[in-house]
Amino acid sequence: MIKIARVTMREIRLPLAEPFVTAGGIVEQRRVLLLEVSDADGFTAWTECVAESLPEYSPETVDSCWLALSEWILPAALHERFASAAAVDHALENRVRGNRMARATIEMGVWALESSHRGMPLAEVLVEYSDAALNQMSAPRQFVETGIALGIHDTPESLAERAETEVSAGYRRIKLKISPSRDVEFVRAVRSSVGPDIVLTVDANCSYNDADASDLSALMSLDAFGLRMIEQPLAHDDLVHHANLQRLLSTPICLDESITCAASVEEMLVLGSAKVVNLKPGRVGGFRQSLAIHDLCADSGVPVWCGGMLETGVGRAYNVALASLKNFTEPGDLSPSSRYWPRDIVAEPWRMDADGRVKVPLDRAGIGVDVDEGWVDDLTVRRAVFTAK
Ligand code: MG
Repeated sequence: MIKIARVTMREIRLPLAEPFVTAGGIVEQRRVLLLEVSDADGFTAWTECVAESLPEYSPETVDSCWLALSEWILPAALHERFASAAAVDHALENRVRGNRMARATIEMGVWALESSHRGMPLAEVLVEYSDAALNQMSAPRQFVETGIALGIHDTPESLAERAETEVSAGYRRIKLKISPSRDVEFVRAVRSSVGPDIVLTVDANCSYNDADASDLSALMSLDAFGLRMIEQPLAHDDLVHHANLQRLLSTPICLDESITCAASVEEMLVLGSAKVVNLKPGRVGGFRQSLAIHDLCADSGVPVWCGGMLETGVGRAYNVALASLKNFTEPGDLSPSSRYWPRDIVAEPWRMDADGRVKVPLDRAGIGVDVDEGWVDDLTVRRAVFTAK
């Protein structure tokens, strides 16, 4: 049984190593919502909410999650006793509809508490749960391959130069953010500079409209560049148009924003909207949904990979644990800490080896990283404490 006794919620403002340009704008400083969750047996887990400042990627934001956690989710979680971490999602789902990023924050924290209770690394707890569902036996991967996402650049030449630098640094997969008019020539330049063997993908973050002739023609032209996938070209809530588009393209479509839970993957499979899934546990309500999606995709021959949400080293630990599962067959957005932060909030920053891999921490229980609490205190701009009645 796991009984949450106390939760400290904070917002920190963490400076980024470089501004990140997406179709939605420029991000220079990451506002991050963190929880420090303690249970009645004295175990503590840090966890992170993936929501951003503005409702551009998702309807949820740092502020909406702060409200949802304070008013509904933490009071509900503090009221319950959980037989296991797998029970948290059901319990919260019954009390709070939607708000999946906010729910995931506490749900994933309870998985970390369970792994501490059992003296096991988080990755092993997740593999055990997934294997039981798939009726197989496996061990987590020891390393996960990592790709890098490059923001929209001013010119095709500068993007191509940057891509070459990242290939020399060891990255196995380069993902380019694209938007209408910053697409075909940019991809052409990168493909010709990195050569045919590097795995290239593009991510449109919902910025195309297939009813627009020039948008559709640009997307069709991308078929010429041997892309591994085109991520989320159309609107987040439009699986039907993605299915129509997938029938026109030879490049697999990957869905990101559209996948909010296991049910949306079932709809995707029925409609034929995509052939790959970008699975971010913090977006789908946490690990129980993530494991259901992983297993459903494994059964259906659909590869999954773990995208990034500009997480600190805390959120990254949860992503690395999940990405150690069997059906994560594509490299994840799991760049080392230094890619994002001049100074991460974990004591030992995440590193990538010369082969573009991140090591899964399998030598200790829990999430495998220690939080630099003094630094977190310095960065904190608001804080609230919740205790069980
Ligand atoms: Mg994406």
